[in-house]
Amino acid sequence: MISPGQQNSLPMQVRQARPCPPTERKPLIRFSFYWEEHLVPPWAYDRGSANQITGGWVQACGYWRLPMDEVIEVQTCSRCRSAALVHQAYSGQHLCGRHLFSSIRKRTSRELRLQLALPKKATREDNSPFVILVAISGGKDSAVLLSMMVEILGRRRDVELVAGCVDEGIDGYRRPSMEYARELAESLGVRFETLSYEEMGYGRMDHIVQVMPGIGDRHAEANGLMPCSFCGVFRRQSLNALAEKLDADVMALGHNLDDMAQSVLMNLQKGEIERSVRLAPHTKEPIEGIVPRIVPLRWVPEQEIHAYAIHAGLPIHHGECPHSLGAMRQQSRAVVAKLESQTPGARHGLLHSLDQIRELHRGANPNSKQEVNQCSECGEITSREICQSCTMRKWLAEAP
Ligand code: SF4
Ligand SMILES: [Zn+2]
Ligand SMILES: [Zn+2]
Repeated sequence: MISPGQQNSLPMQVRQARPCPPTERKPLIRFSFYWEEHLVPPWAYDRGSANQITGGWVQACGYWRLPMDEVIEVQTCSRCRSAALVHQAYSGQHLCGRHLFSSIRKRTSRELRLQLALPKKATREDNSPFVILVAISGGKDSAVLLSMMVEILGRRRDVELVAGCVDEGIDGYRRPSMEYARELAESLGVRFETLSYEEMGYGRMDHIVQVMPGIGDRHAEANGLMPCSFCGVFRRQSLNALAEKLDADVMALGHNLDDMAQSVLMNLQKGEIERSVRLAPHTKEPIEGIVPRIVPLRWVPEQEIHAYAIHAGLPIHHGECPHSLGAMRQQSRAVVAKLESQTPGARHGLLHSLDQIRELHRGANPNSKQEVNQCSECGEITSREICQSCTMRKWLAEAP
């Protein structure tokens, strides 16, 4: 059997087979499968390159029973002779684990420089380090974000990275993912901090989901809202509170290229250009009253992040939130995956469009700061008199 450590030395065509256990009739052979993670799980696929659906496939290790004479093609890396781990249809390149790492590192490092202009000595006036709160969840994106931030900035004594995790109170999902987040932070030597919805006074998300129908009956504005509508507002507020508690200068979020493209598409389809303009990164146009967000992974597709997280052996939780079904993002996710499969590079195009819209907006409103009101109840920034979080908290308090 070929061990995972030998993966890089696999030849272009694999003809190797190992004998089956005595009870089996067909031999086991190492193979590559093509994995499109947005649509169906890998085991639903047949073998072969015909399954390169979205232009982003992951060549993974597995064992499959094949006839002895069947030939499986394993692509080699475009930059060395090792077996490729991913294919970037938008660039035409195949990358092995090592070159995927250097490619992600390069993109992250470039974005960090563009989004966060750190001086050579970034310490504050009192000589304390510049604090970057890295929001982590136990999932792949934030795991890769934290490991890349440590890789790029970890040796700087004038910068402190703190990993922060919000506990929404979702049974069977948040506790295990939080353990992965803690394990990752500890393994990287990064301080780990948490804040829960209960501590914030929202109660557990599981409870909120139960009382939502009653809230919808009482308040027309709440009618038809999905769990993520509540959760998104509360998470944003919790992250702001965590940043304040830690006196963070900047907050780093693990949004990947797919997330960004989905957000652009959702805002466009709702006609919310202003909302698009306010998407992170905020360092060029800070929003008064909140810690600026940076999104260093914004040019890295989800598949590449996933493949790298697995390749690097990062501790990540693979579970799905039980309340995510029906969210608008799920529809947008499928649309973006389809667009990318038909036109490789579509995700990049959507994000480039956002950057151009932002520039045009800046040109058209040269003196406009991203000004917002302060909530008359909690003081958080909002475009209304009372912020959405306080409104929702009130609905919850009145819920039957
Ligand atoms: S999927 Fe929705 S409900 Fe679940 S954690 Fe994410 S935002 Fe919250
Ligand atoms: Zn390589
Ligand atoms: Zn408020």
